[in-house]
Amino acid sequence: MKRLLITGGSGFIGSHTCVVLLKQGYELYVLDSHCNSHPKVIDRVVKITGDEESSTINKVFLIEGDLRDQNLLNKLFSDSIYQGKPIEGVIHFAGLKSVQESTANPLLYWDSNVNGSINLLRSMDQFDCRTIVFSSSATIYGASKKSFLPETSPINPLNPYGQTKLAVEKLLRDVFKSSPNKWRISNLRYFNPIGAHSSGEIGEDPLGIPNNLFPFITQVAAGRREKLTIFGKDWPTLDGTCIRDYIHVMDLAEGHLLALECLLAEEPQLMNLNLGTGLGTSVLELVNTFQSVNNLEMPYEFASRRKGDVPQIIADNSMALSRLHWNPSRNLEDMCRDGWKWQTLNPKGYL
Ligand code: NAD
Ligand code: UDP
Repeated sequence: MKRLLITGGSGFIGSHTCVVLLKQGYELYVLDSHCNSHPKVIDRVVKITGDEESSTINKVFLIEGDLRDQNLLNKLFSDSIYQGKPIEGVIHFAGLKSVQESTANPLLYWDSNVNGSINLLRSMDQFDCRTIVFSSSATIYGASKKSFLPETSPINPLNPYGQTKLAVEKLLRDVFKSSPNKWRISNLRYFNPIGAHSSGEIGEDPLGIPNNLFPFITQVAAGRREKLTIFGKDWPTLDGTCIRDYIHVMDLAEGHLLALECLLAEEPQLMNLNLGTGLGTSVLELVNTFQSVNNLEMPYEFASRRKGDVPQIIADNSMALSRLHWNPSRNLEDMCRDGWKWQTLNPKGYL
């Protein structure tokens, strides 16, 4: 079976994608610095995917290292060729993702996200591996009057994190243009991934105080945080709170498998695809669904709007549905149930 390199495979989205890929029979090299994850994650991935007849333990190799280490990257690709099993594709999750931190420390973000990606592409080119699926983000889109954002929406990231994502997309476009008959590239623009694997073995494990809504909700529900603060109740939406397109992380993970297999099967190309459900949910709707599905109550209060927020972001996902034959099927209840199961089984995350 094909061997793939998964950068950032110990992280939230990467680990769920490893589960999907291993179940499909791929062999994985996972490269992760563990600057925002725990090596234990891969043991859990093996536990989920292994069964008595076919253990996956020999199909996933964890390498602790940083993308900015060019020698390490070159060694991974050259060792694979030497073993007669070259890396045939890369799914590139590794990167830093906090909007706040990127504003405080842009140099770190440009170095890790952009220089790291340059190194990766350099090694891929050198060792004739030219298939890559990149973790981009809906955060690259600027303000739009459309209710559903297609891939052709205006691009205008508002913070250094978003700028680095756009920079890597531009880099990939230039690399593609330099040899369009060689490169197979997919920029996957994620909307709001939440939830966890239904086993409760893997999930989102943010360091410190979560910035994003869903992990904050699960931590308040678990009593780790006193209450949820909802930023703004006067937005131009039905209930006055912001609307986002939440997508179950396992649906997102399956989108990666399909994008990779589409690239490997088709002619060289570059595609930009939105991965979202196309459904909008307000903050209050998410809180209420979480409470009712899990039969609990959680304290929350309203505060003023958060700087930089926009009232509504929903994907036009028609391109991903048709190009990949992708069917994101898990609903908001599934996201709330699975996310809560992960939190209750792992009150301190992977510690
Ligand atoms: P995560 O932090 O859980 O995973 C990223 C992984 O990359 C971590 O395990 C981290 O240790 C590793 N890493 C970071 N920098 C590295 C480096 N220089 N070298 C090697 N490893 C490194 O984040 P996630 O939520 O799984 O996100 C994965 C990717 O998707 C990121 O690139 C992120 O920007 C992008 N993304 C995430 C979201 C989201 O809401 N989670 C939305 C849009 C895009
Ligand atoms: N949000 C909130 N309280 C929090 C975190 C987020 O009310 O503690 C709101 C935020 O203002 C936004 C929505 O929840 O309207 C989703 O925020 P998140 O940071 O998860 O995603 P993003 O805004 O980056 O899409």
